[in-house]
Amino acid sequence: MQRNKGQVTTLPYLAGQPEVVVPQVQSPIHLVLLGPPGVGKGTQAELLSRNLAARHLSTGDILRSARNLDPNERSPAISAALKYMQRGDLVPDSTILALVEEHLDYLSVEQSFLLDGFPRTVGQAWALDRMLERRDMKLDAVISYELPVDRIVQRLSGRRTCPACKSVFHISARPPRKRGVCDHCGSRLIQREDDRPVSIRVRLAAYEDNTAPLAELYARRGLLVRIPAEGSPEEVFGRSLEILQVA
Ligand code: AMP
Repeated sequence: MQRNKGQVTTLPYLAGQPEVVVPQVQSPIHLVLLGPPGVGKGTQAELLSRNLAARHLSTGDILRSARNLDPNERSPAISAALKYMQRGDLVPDSTILALVEEHLDYLSVEQSFLLDGFPRTVGQAWALDRMLERRDMKLDAVISYELPVDRIVQRLSGRRTCPACKSVFHISARPPRKRGVCDHCGSRLIQREDDRPVSIRVRLAAYEDNTAPLAELYARRGLLVRIPAEGSPEEVFGRSLEILQVA
């Protein structure tokens, strides 16, 4: 953590891009991860949270675990949310904020956290501001993982997810040791419903409309770090650590 807040830095893999203002990051680290579906954000969140001993709050994972509940145990808001999710649409802010409010213990000043998939709209970002202000906290950095659309589609069509421990694999880029079986817990891997082609297109459009403006918001605050998501998960992870200066 030797860089000073606001220092302008050019890293080799960012050559040709505008210079990045690297925010000062201290431990504990409080991060938001942005990136379109398929960019590998979930994998990076998994690697970062293990490496930084950060608590990992993923609104997508919370919604997916609600899907495993008996329909009678789901609140009407959750049942409605799952329908949005299945179509690839964003779930309404009010539902997402209610879910996050149930997990406010993640927003701890003493412990590192990583928000993955939240916020996803400007409205959610403002709501997060208020949650953090109430705790006298600020974000340290917002990482935006970026990749061309054709590469995203290629990645998503081969993605396989473990429904039990949430590990993410890819049939060619990150295959499990045994085909169709999770390396970590032995569960059968699945293709997420929203990773199917029709949902992928809706999700990419939803990202462009709602989430891309967030990058601008956080850029204006000097918090945004854009990281190219080309290459293996380990390469992208190395870039993330380098830019956060915690390697
Ligand atoms: P993810 O795993 O983050 O890609 O999320 C999967 C799906 O869950 C998204 O396509 C949305 O339908 C829904 N979702 C997750 N987080 C949010 C959020 N913060 N706001 C709205 N919808 C969300």
